[in-house]
Amino acid sequence: LPDPAGGSGGLSCPPRMDPFVDTLQRLREAFVSGRTRPAEFRAAQLKGLSRFLQENKQLLQEALAQDLHKSAFEAELSEISISQNEINLALRNLRAWMKDEKVSKNLATQLDSAFIRKEPFGLVLILSPWNYPLNLSLGPLVGALAAGNCVVLKPSEISKSTEKVLAEVLPRYLDQSCFAVVLGGPQETGRLLEHKFDYIFFTGNPQVGKIIMTAAAKHLTPITLELGGKNPCYVDDNCDPQTVANRVAFFRCFNAGQTCVAPDYVLCSPEMQARLVPALQSAITRFYGDDPQSSPNLGRIISQKHFQRLRGLLSFGRVVIGGQSDESDLYIAPTVLVDVQETDPVMQEEIFGPILPIVNVRSLGQAIDFINRREKPLALYAFSNNSQVVKRVLAQTSSGGFCGNDGFMHLTLASLPFGGVGSSGMGNYHGKFSFDTFSHHRACLLRPPGLEKIYAIRYPPHTPRNLRV
Ligand code: NAD
Repeated sequence: LPDPAGGSGGLSCPPRMDPFVDTLQRLREAFVSGRTRPAEFRAAQLKGLSRFLQENKQLLQEALAQDLHKSAFEAELSEISISQNEINLALRNLRAWMKDEKVSKNLATQLDSAFIRKEPFGLVLILSPWNYPLNLSLGPLVGALAAGNCVVLKPSEISKSTEKVLAEVLPRYLDQSCFAVVLGGPQETGRLLEHKFDYIFFTGNPQVGKIIMTAAAKHLTPITLELGGKNPCYVDDNCDPQTVANRVAFFRCFNAGQTCVAPDYVLCSPEMQARLVPALQSAITRFYGDDPQSSPNLGRIISQKHFQRLRGLLSFGRVVIGGQSDESDLYIAPTVLVDVQETDPVMQEEIFGPILPIVNVRSLGQAIDFINRREKPLALYAFSNNSQVVKRVLAQTSSGGFCGNDGFMHLTLASLPFGGVGSSGMGNYHGKFSFDTFSHHRACLLRPPGLEKIYAIRYPPHTPRNLRV
């Protein structure tokens, strides 16, 4: 059989019956033809994406409601309009982003032209997760198409309704010789990854991230890994508990807690905890009523497997708010846990549900030590009326992103790069950062063909006169 790892440059030679061969061959040929390079072509794809969103808004809202019980508000805010904004920004700036970037020169290159050319990598693979199945497919896709690549999108098989819309409807809006959606779970994705891609963009959990990185390493394929982890939320004694509770509860329960940048746990003093718990109860009741299960504004857990995992986490520490669950509805109530130990599973794994443990610390220094003992998070939050406290947390810790006195508002700014550090990921995107992520930055120097007499000074035999120059 031919070697599935393939040779260099072109498409590999996988065994017969490989379901991806024809698709990948088609996209590879389209890229080599140069069709995706002109700005007009790229703009046409971005406009296609925009039309896809506009013409299928209701279908997408329904799919997101089926997958995650997403409210129309959450679907609009965190899936549809956020994707639309990325498209609009790329369309407005496409030609400027594509322009060669002139760079400064040294004495020996004064007469040359030196610049960075942003060129497409070629065939890009985007692997997306189920928690924001539209936004986390379209966001990277905007960058990859704007940068002039051909793209294979593999949405999550878990968010089935959205996967169906992406597979059946989205391709109609794009040039299908340059774009394809492929379907499958871990097994099919493993098979797909045997092929050589020119760039892989993965959003998902860190364990799977290692599998993706290992597969990419076989072909020396560059990657971006957008991963997850536990995002600490430090609450200083000097702040208004109700304001903090409103913001923490809102961002913890958004999408039923299934957000990679959600505040995962609170670090505060026992005194602040005593003030924060009733304030959290008040916020949760105001947001979702006395019976959150009947609220149209609270999402559901994506699957039985994740539901069981989350229900298991409810048995650590002491439940002071919520704690109810209903397997038939995949419902977990907004829950707050206290008396949690650092070694409890709820403090070991990313929670990814509407459960908020509170861990007590005696001082800001102890909170910073606690954060720094653990893997670097994707996001870190600090609440205080004293800006020096927020600045100290920022200065003495590391994380993919940081927000003082609120939840994940930093990711709404396309002018900020979005990505992790350490085990929460590598690389970043959003706005121009997406375009740059999906572009090879080619170092170019164009020298005039003449002037040989000047350049001849470089050639041997070298004399003391050469060295003086
Ligand atoms: P996941 O890693 O299980 O799945 C992501 C993608 O990888 C899916 O398309 C899936 O089909 C594929 N996949 C799963 N197992 C695989 C395997 N063994 N081999 C090859 N491919 C495989 O992630 P998920 O459960 O869909 O999403 C939740 C995780 O994603 C959380 O950890 C969350 O923090 C993280 N996340 C990160 C970001 C970010 O931007 N950093 C955003 C959303 C979610």
